[in-house]
Amino acid sequence: MSDTLTVQTHAARDSLRIPPPMAMLAELTHRCPLACPYCSNPIELTRGNEELSTEEWIGVFRQAAALGVLHLHLSGGEPAARRDLVELTQAAASLGLYTNLITSGVGLTEARIGSLADAGLEHVQLSIQGVSPEGADRISGYKGGYERKIAVAGWTTDAGIPLTLNAVCHRQNMSEIDAMIDLAIRLKARRIEVATVQFHGWAERNKAALMPTREQVERASETVTKAREKYKGVLVIDYVPADYYSSYPKACMGGWGRVGLNVTPSGRVLPCHAAETIPSLSFETVRDCSLAEIWYESDAFNAYRGEDWMPEPCRSCERKKVDFGGCRCQAMALAGNARATDPVCIRSPLREHLTRETERLSATASTDLVYRGR
Ligand code: SF4
Ligand code: SF4
Repeated sequence: MSDTLTVQTHAARDSLRIPPPMAMLAELTHRCPLACPYCSNPIELTRGNEELSTEEWIGVFRQAAALGVLHLHLSGGEPAARRDLVELTQAAASLGLYTNLITSGVGLTEARIGSLADAGLEHVQLSIQGVSPEGADRISGYKGGYERKIAVAGWTTDAGIPLTLNAVCHRQNMSEIDAMIDLAIRLKARRIEVATVQFHGWAERNKAALMPTREQVERASETVTKAREKYKGVLVIDYVPADYYSSYPKACMGGWGRVGLNVTPSGRVLPCHAAETIPSLSFETVRDCSLAEIWYESDAFNAYRGEDWMPEPCRSCERKKVDFGGCRCQAMALAGNARATDPVCIRSPLREHLTRETERLSATASTDLVYRGR
Protein backbone atom coordinates (compact mmCIF):
# COMPACT_ATOMS: atom_id res chain seq x y z
CA MET A 1 0.00 0.00 0.00
CA SER A 2 1.31 3.52 -0.75
CA ASP A 3 2.16 5.88 2.14
CA THR A 4 -0.71 8.20 1.15
CA LEU A 5 -3.14 5.33 1.22
CA THR A 6 -1.80 4.13 4.56
CA VAL A 7 -2.40 7.58 6.05
CA GLN A 8 -5.93 7.72 4.56
CA THR A 9 -6.73 4.23 5.83
CA HIS A 10 -5.53 5.05 9.33
CA ALA A 11 -7.55 8.29 9.24
CA ALA A 12 -10.71 6.38 8.25
CA ARG A 13 -10.12 3.82 10.99
CA ASP A 14 -9.57 6.51 13.62
CA SER A 15 -12.55 8.64 12.58
CA LEU A 16 -14.96 5.69 12.52
CA ARG A 17 -13.33 3.99 15.52
CA ILE A 18 -13.36 0.68 13.68
CA PRO A 19 -11.38 -1.93 15.56
CA PRO A 20 -9.27 -4.34 13.51
CA PRO A 21 -10.75 -7.75 12.70
CA MET A 22 -9.97 -10.56 15.10
CA ALA A 23 -10.77 -13.51 12.84
CA MET A 24 -10.60 -14.36 9.16
CA LEU A 25 -12.37 -17.22 7.45
CA ALA A 26 -10.41 -18.27 4.38
CA GLU A 27 -12.66 -20.27 2.09
CA LEU A 28 -9.79 -21.93 0.28
CA THR A 29 -12.01 -23.68 -2.25
CA HIS A 30 -15.65 -24.45 -2.98
CA ARG A 31 -14.72 -27.93 -4.21
CA CYS A 32 -16.15 -30.59 -1.90
CA PRO A 33 -16.85 -34.30 -2.25
CA LEU A 34 -19.87 -34.11 0.06
CA ALA A 35 -23.32 -32.97 -1.01
CA CYS A 36 -24.92 -31.75 2.23
CA PRO A 37 -28.50 -30.59 1.67
CA TYR A 38 -27.97 -27.67 4.11
CA CYS A 39 -24.73 -26.42 2.55
CA SER A 40 -24.53 -22.67 3.11
CA ASN A 41 -22.12 -22.03 0.26
CA PRO A 42 -23.55 -19.98 -2.61
CA ILE A 43 -25.66 -21.68 -5.27
CA GLU A 44 -23.09 -20.61 -7.89
CA LEU A 45 -19.79 -22.09 -6.74
CA THR A 46 -16.35 -20.69 -7.61
CA ARG A 47 -14.60 -22.96 -10.09
CA GLY A 48 -11.19 -24.46 -9.31
CA ASN A 49 -9.42 -22.39 -11.98
CA GLU A 50 -10.70 -19.14 -10.39
CA GLU A 51 -9.26 -19.89 -6.94
CA LEU A 52 -6.47 -17.79 -5.46
CA SER A 53 -3.05 -19.35 -5.99
CA THR A 54 -0.79 -20.47 -3.14
CA GLU A 55 1.20 -17.22 -3.36
CA GLU A 56 -1.96 -15.12 -3.41
CA TRP A 57 -3.34 -16.83 -0.28
CA ILE A 58 -0.04 -16.42 1.56
CA GLY A 59 -0.09 -12.73 0.62
CA VAL A 60 -3.61 -12.46 2.07
CA PHE A 61 -2.49 -14.17 5.30
CA ARG A 62 0.43 -11.72 5.56
CA GLN A 63 -1.93 -8.77 5.17
CA ALA A 64 -4.36 -10.30 7.69
CA ALA A 65 -1.62 -10.68 10.31
CA ALA A 66 -0.50 -7.09 9.72
CA LEU A 67 -4.10 -5.89 10.02
CA GLY A 68 -4.47 -7.51 13.46
CA VAL A 69 -6.19 -10.81 12.67
CA LEU A 70 -5.40 -13.42 15.34
CA HIS A 71 -7.47 -16.45 14.32
CA LEU A 72 -7.39 -17.93 10.83
CA HIS A 73 -10.07 -20.46 9.95
CA LEU A 74 -9.14 -22.57 6.92
CA SER A 75 -12.41 -23.64 5.41
CA GLY A 76 -14.22 -24.46 2.18
CA GLY A 77 -15.90 -26.36 0.53
CA GLU A 78 -13.44 -28.95 1.65
CA PRO A 79 -10.05 -27.30 2.32
CA ALA A 80 -8.28 -30.67 2.03
CA ALA A 81 -9.13 -30.51 -1.69
CA ARG A 82 -6.30 -27.92 -1.94
CA ARG A 83 -3.01 -29.71 -2.58
CA ASP A 84 -1.15 -26.84 -0.92
CA LEU A 85 -3.02 -27.10 2.39
CA VAL A 86 0.13 -27.99 4.37
CA GLU A 87 2.09 -25.17 2.73
CA LEU A 88 -0.67 -22.67 3.43
CA THR A 89 -0.93 -23.81 7.05
CA GLN A 90 2.81 -23.51 7.52
CA ALA A 91 2.84 -20.00 6.06
CA ALA A 92 -0.03 -18.89 8.28
CA ALA A 93 1.52 -20.38 11.42
CA SER A 94 4.88 -18.74 10.66
CA LEU A 95 3.05 -15.39 10.55
CA GLY A 96 1.84 -15.98 14.10
CA LEU A 97 -1.77 -16.74 13.12
CA TYR A 98 -3.71 -19.29 15.17
CA THR A 99 -4.75 -21.86 12.56
CA ASN A 100 -8.01 -23.80 12.68
CA LEU A 101 -8.95 -26.31 9.98
CA ILE A 102 -12.69 -26.72 9.34
CA THR A 103 -13.10 -29.98 7.45
CA SER A 104 -15.39 -32.84 6.53
CA GLY A 105 -12.34 -35.10 6.92
CA VAL A 106 -12.61 -36.45 3.39
CA GLY A 107 -9.24 -36.00 1.69
CA LEU A 108 -7.21 -36.24 4.90
CA THR A 109 -4.92 -39.18 5.61
CA GLU A 110 -2.91 -40.04 8.72
CA ALA A 111 0.28 -38.84 6.98
CA ARG A 112 -1.30 -35.57 5.88
CA ILE A 113 -2.58 -34.84 9.38
CA GLY A 114 0.95 -35.52 10.67
CA SER A 115 2.30 -32.99 8.14
CA LEU A 116 -0.35 -30.46 9.18
CA ALA A 117 0.63 -30.91 12.84
CA ASP A 118 4.29 -30.38 11.91
CA ALA A 119 3.28 -27.30 9.93
CA GLY A 120 1.78 -25.80 13.10
CA LEU A 121 -1.94 -26.55 12.74
CA GLU A 122 -3.46 -25.77 16.12
CA HIS A 123 -7.03 -26.99 15.95
CA VAL A 124 -9.37 -29.13 13.83
CA GLN A 125 -13.13 -28.76 13.55
CA LEU A 126 -14.53 -31.94 12.03
CA SER A 127 -18.11 -32.04 10.77
CA ILE A 128 -20.41 -34.94 11.60
CA GLN A 129 -23.80 -35.46 10.02
CA GLY A 130 -25.13 -38.19 12.32
CA VAL A 131 -24.13 -40.99 14.68
CA SER A 132 -24.50 -44.03 12.41
CA PRO A 133 -22.83 -44.75 9.07
CA GLU A 134 -26.19 -45.11 7.30
CA GLY A 135 -27.76 -41.97 8.75
CA ALA A 136 -24.68 -39.77 8.43
CA ASP A 137 -23.86 -40.87 4.89
CA ARG A 138 -27.45 -40.36 3.79
CA ILE A 139 -27.35 -36.75 4.99
CA SER A 140 -23.92 -35.96 3.50
CA GLY A 141 -24.65 -37.78 0.23
CA TYR A 142 -21.21 -39.44 0.50
CA LYS A 143 -20.89 -43.18 1.08
CA GLY A 144 -18.08 -44.08 3.45
CA GLY A 145 -17.88 -40.54 4.83
CA TYR A 146 -18.79 -41.51 8.40
CA GLU A 147 -16.04 -44.16 8.66
CA ARG A 148 -13.50 -41.68 7.29
CA LYS A 149 -14.50 -39.06 9.85
CA ILE A 150 -14.07 -41.52 12.73
CA ALA A 151 -10.57 -42.34 11.42
CA VAL A 152 -9.71 -38.64 10.96
CA ALA A 153 -10.78 -37.89 14.53
CA GLY A 154 -8.39 -40.57 15.81
CA TRP A 155 -5.48 -39.39 13.65
CA THR A 156 -6.08 -35.81 14.79
CA THR A 157 -6.03 -36.49 18.51
CA ASP A 158 -3.12 -38.95 18.10
CA ALA A 159 -1.19 -36.12 16.45
CA GLY A 160 -1.88 -33.97 19.52
CA ILE A 161 -4.19 -31.54 17.72
CA PRO A 162 -7.22 -30.46 19.78
CA LEU A 163 -10.48 -31.58 18.16
CA THR A 164 -13.94 -30.03 17.97
CA LEU A 165 -16.90 -31.84 16.40
CA ASN A 166 -19.26 -29.65 14.38
CA ALA A 167 -22.80 -30.96 14.08
CA VAL A 168 -25.49 -29.20 12.10
CA CYS A 169 -28.81 -30.32 13.57
CA HIS A 170 -32.19 -30.33 11.87
CA ARG A 171 -35.46 -32.24 11.94
CA GLN A 172 -33.88 -35.46 10.63
CA ASN A 173 -31.09 -35.78 13.23
CA MET A 174 -32.18 -33.64 16.19
CA SER A 175 -33.14 -36.67 18.25
CA GLU A 176 -29.48 -37.77 18.10
CA ILE A 177 -27.97 -34.80 19.95
CA ASP A 178 -27.28 -36.80 23.11
CA ALA A 179 -25.66 -39.56 21.00
CA MET A 180 -23.57 -36.90 19.16
CA ILE A 181 -22.31 -35.64 22.51
CA ASP A 182 -21.45 -39.21 23.58
CA LEU A 183 -19.65 -39.66 20.24
CA ALA A 184 -17.60 -36.52 20.94
CA ILE A 185 -16.53 -38.03 24.27
CA ARG A 186 -15.60 -41.34 22.60
CA LEU A 187 -13.57 -39.51 19.95
CA LYS A 188 -11.72 -37.50 22.63
CA ALA A 189 -12.95 -34.19 21.32
CA ARG A 190 -12.52 -31.24 23.67
CA ARG A 191 -15.52 -29.44 22.32
CA ILE A 192 -18.68 -30.03 20.30
CA GLU A 193 -20.57 -27.32 18.50
CA VAL A 194 -24.19 -28.21 17.82
CA ALA A 195 -25.70 -25.59 15.52
CA THR A 196 -29.28 -25.61 14.30
CA VAL A 197 -29.48 -25.42 10.53
CA GLN A 198 -29.62 -21.95 8.96
CA PHE A 199 -31.48 -21.58 5.70
CA HIS A 200 -28.89 -19.82 3.56
CA GLY A 201 -27.60 -20.97 0.18
CA TRP A 202 -28.54 -24.51 -0.76
CA ALA A 203 -30.36 -25.10 2.57
CA GLU A 204 -33.18 -22.87 1.38
CA ARG A 205 -34.21 -25.66 -1.04
CA ASN A 206 -34.54 -28.14 1.83
CA LYS A 207 -36.49 -26.02 4.29
CA ALA A 208 -39.49 -28.33 4.38
CA ALA A 209 -37.44 -31.48 4.96
CA LEU A 210 -35.10 -29.95 7.58
CA MET A 211 -37.14 -27.47 9.64
CA PRO A 212 -37.21 -28.79 13.22
CA THR A 213 -40.41 -28.84 15.25
CA ARG A 214 -40.91 -26.69 18.36
CA GLU A 215 -40.98 -29.84 20.49
CA GLN A 216 -37.62 -31.00 19.08
CA VAL A 217 -36.07 -27.60 19.76
CA GLU A 218 -37.28 -27.57 23.36
CA ARG A 219 -36.04 -31.12 23.92
CA ALA A 220 -32.66 -30.25 22.38
CA SER A 221 -32.18 -27.37 24.85
CA GLU A 222 -32.95 -29.70 27.77
CA THR A 223 -30.54 -32.33 26.43
CA VAL A 224 -27.75 -29.77 26.13
CA THR A 225 -28.36 -28.39 29.63
CA LYS A 226 -28.15 -31.89 31.16
CA ALA A 227 -25.08 -32.86 29.11
CA ARG A 228 -23.26 -29.65 30.09
CA GLU A 229 -23.74 -30.60 33.73
CA LYS A 230 -22.70 -34.21 33.14
CA TYR A 231 -19.53 -33.38 31.17
CA LYS A 232 -18.45 -30.24 33.03
CA GLY A 233 -14.67 -29.91 32.80
CA VAL A 234 -14.46 -32.70 30.20
CA LEU A 235 -16.25 -31.42 27.10
CA VAL A 236 -17.27 -27.91 26.11
CA ILE A 237 -20.72 -27.98 24.51
CA ASP A 238 -21.62 -24.98 22.37
CA TYR A 239 -25.19 -24.92 21.18
CA VAL A 240 -26.70 -22.56 18.63
CA PRO A 241 -30.48 -22.83 19.02
CA ALA A 242 -33.00 -22.30 16.25
CA ASP A 243 -33.54 -18.57 16.10
CA TYR A 244 -36.89 -18.93 14.30
CA TYR A 245 -38.27 -20.33 17.60
CA SER A 246 -36.56 -17.62 19.68
CA SER A 247 -37.85 -14.20 20.66
CA TYR A 248 -34.78 -12.28 19.54
CA PRO A 249 -32.25 -12.71 16.76
CA LYS A 250 -28.61 -13.64 17.22
CA ALA A 251 -25.86 -11.06 17.01
CA CYS A 252 -24.92 -12.35 13.59
CA MET A 253 -21.12 -12.38 13.08
CA GLY A 254 -20.85 -10.44 16.35
CA GLY A 255 -22.08 -7.44 14.37
CA TRP A 256 -21.50 -6.53 10.72
CA GLY A 257 -17.84 -5.63 10.08
CA ARG A 258 -17.01 -5.69 13.80
CA VAL A 259 -15.15 -8.92 14.49
CA GLY A 260 -14.28 -10.83 11.37
CA LEU A 261 -14.18 -11.14 7.61
CA ASN A 262 -14.51 -13.90 5.02
CA VAL A 263 -12.42 -14.32 1.92
CA THR A 264 -14.02 -16.40 -0.84
CA PRO A 265 -12.01 -18.85 -2.99
CA SER A 266 -11.54 -16.21 -5.69
CA GLY A 267 -10.57 -13.51 -3.17
CA ARG A 268 -13.77 -11.49 -2.69
CA VAL A 269 -13.86 -10.13 0.84
CA LEU A 270 -17.20 -10.38 2.65
CA PRO A 271 -18.46 -9.24 6.06
CA CYS A 272 -20.22 -12.61 6.39
CA HIS A 273 -20.55 -15.89 4.57
CA ALA A 274 -23.93 -15.08 3.01
CA ALA A 275 -23.37 -11.37 2.31
CA GLU A 276 -23.45 -11.90 -1.47
CA THR A 277 -27.20 -12.56 -1.19
CA ILE A 278 -27.67 -8.80 -0.64
CA PRO A 279 -27.94 -7.49 -4.21
CA SER A 280 -27.33 -3.82 -3.37
CA LEU A 281 -23.79 -4.55 -2.17
CA SER A 282 -20.69 -5.13 -4.26
CA PHE A 283 -17.53 -6.67 -2.92
CA GLU A 284 -13.89 -5.90 -3.63
CA THR A 285 -11.33 -8.63 -4.12
CA VAL A 286 -7.84 -9.00 -2.70
CA ARG A 287 -6.64 -9.06 -6.31
CA ASP A 288 -7.63 -5.37 -6.62
CA CYS A 289 -7.46 -3.87 -3.12
CA SER A 290 -5.60 -4.44 0.11
CA LEU A 291 -7.38 -6.15 2.99
CA ALA A 292 -6.94 -2.99 5.11
CA GLU A 293 -8.62 -0.78 2.50
CA ILE A 294 -11.52 -3.20 2.24
CA TRP A 295 -11.93 -3.58 6.01
CA TYR A 296 -11.83 0.11 6.82
CA GLU A 297 -13.15 1.81 3.70
CA SER A 298 -15.31 -0.40 1.52
CA ASP A 299 -18.97 0.53 1.14
CA ALA A 300 -20.01 -3.05 1.80
CA PHE A 301 -18.25 -3.24 5.18
CA ASN A 302 -19.46 0.20 6.21
CA ALA A 303 -23.06 -0.41 5.06
CA TYR A 304 -24.33 -1.78 8.40
CA ARG A 305 -21.67 -0.64 10.84
CA GLY A 306 -22.77 1.42 13.82
CA GLU A 307 -26.42 2.38 14.28
CA ASP A 308 -27.12 5.09 11.70
CA TRP A 309 -28.48 2.59 9.15
CA MET A 310 -31.00 1.09 11.60
CA PRO A 311 -34.73 1.58 11.10
CA GLU A 312 -37.25 1.56 13.93
CA PRO A 313 -37.88 -0.39 16.10
CA CYS A 314 -34.14 -1.22 16.30
CA ARG A 315 -33.00 2.40 16.39
CA SER A 316 -34.64 3.10 19.74
CA CYS A 317 -34.35 -0.44 21.14
CA GLU A 318 -32.32 -1.18 24.26
CA ARG A 319 -30.99 -4.41 22.68
CA LYS A 320 -29.38 -2.76 19.67
CA LYS A 321 -25.91 -3.10 21.18
CA VAL A 322 -26.62 -6.75 22.04
CA ASP A 323 -27.82 -8.14 18.70
CA PHE A 324 -27.11 -5.22 16.32
CA GLY A 325 -30.56 -5.64 14.79
CA GLY A 326 -29.94 -9.31 13.92
CA CYS A 327 -28.83 -10.81 10.63
CA ARG A 328 -28.81 -8.64 7.49
CA CYS A 329 -28.88 -11.68 5.19
CA GLN A 330 -31.88 -13.12 7.06
CA ALA A 331 -33.63 -9.74 6.78
CA MET A 332 -32.90 -9.82 3.03
CA ALA A 333 -34.17 -13.39 2.65
CA LEU A 334 -37.33 -13.04 4.74
CA ALA A 335 -38.26 -9.36 4.45
CA GLY A 336 -36.76 -8.62 1.02
CA ASN A 337 -34.87 -5.69 2.61
CA ALA A 338 -31.43 -6.03 4.18
CA ARG A 339 -32.03 -2.94 6.37
CA ALA A 340 -35.18 -4.35 7.94
CA THR A 341 -35.35 -5.53 11.53
CA ASP A 342 -34.51 -9.24 11.47
CA PRO A 343 -37.97 -10.91 11.13
CA VAL A 344 -37.00 -13.34 13.91
CA CYS A 345 -37.39 -10.48 16.42
CA ILE A 346 -40.72 -10.35 18.27
CA ARG A 347 -40.75 -6.59 17.56
CA SER A 348 -40.67 -7.17 13.80
CA PRO A 349 -44.03 -6.82 12.02
CA LEU A 350 -43.13 -10.01 10.12
CA ARG A 351 -42.63 -12.20 13.17
CA GLU A 352 -46.16 -13.62 13.26
CA HIS A 353 -45.97 -14.63 9.62
CA LEU A 354 -42.56 -16.25 10.25
CA THR A 355 -43.93 -18.28 13.16
CA ARG A 356 -46.85 -19.57 11.03
CA GLU A 357 -44.48 -20.45 8.18
CA THR A 358 -42.00 -22.18 10.52
CA GLU A 359 -44.76 -24.30 12.01
CA ARG A 360 -46.16 -25.15 8.58
CA LEU A 361 -42.72 -26.26 7.32
CA SER A 362 -41.91 -28.28 10.45
CA ALA A 363 -45.17 -30.21 10.06
CA THR A 364 -44.28 -31.33 6.51
CA ALA A 365 -44.13 -35.10 6.24
CA SER A 366 -41.49 -35.24 3.50
CA THR A 367 -37.94 -36.26 4.34
CA ASP A 368 -36.75 -36.13 0.71
CA LEU A 369 -33.52 -34.18 0.32
CA VAL A 370 -32.22 -32.13 -2.58
CA TYR A 371 -28.48 -32.70 -2.43
CA ARG A 372 -25.94 -29.94 -2.98
CA GLY A 373 -24.82 -29.97 -6.61
CA ARG A 374 -21.07 -30.21 -7.19
S1 SF4 B 1 -21.74 -28.16 3.99
FE1 SF4 B 1 -21.24 -30.21 3.19
S2 SF4 B 1 -21.30 -29.94 0.95
FE2 SF4 B 1 -21.19 -27.87 1.83
S3 SF4 B 1 -19.03 -27.42 1.85
FE3 SF4 B 1 -19.51 -28.26 3.87
S4 SF4 B 1 -19.09 -30.47 3.72
FE4 SF4 B 1 -19.19 -29.64 1.61
S1 SF4 C 1 -35.88 -4.42 17.65
FE1 SF4 C 1 -33.90 -4.68 16.60
S2 SF4 C 1 -32.34 -4.26 18.18
FE2 SF4 C 1 -34.30 -4.61 19.24
S3 SF4 C 1 -34.31 -6.77 19.77
FE3 SF4 C 1 -35.33 -6.58 17.79
S4 SF4 C 1 -33.73 -6.89 16.25
FE4 SF4 C 1 -32.70 -6.47 18.21
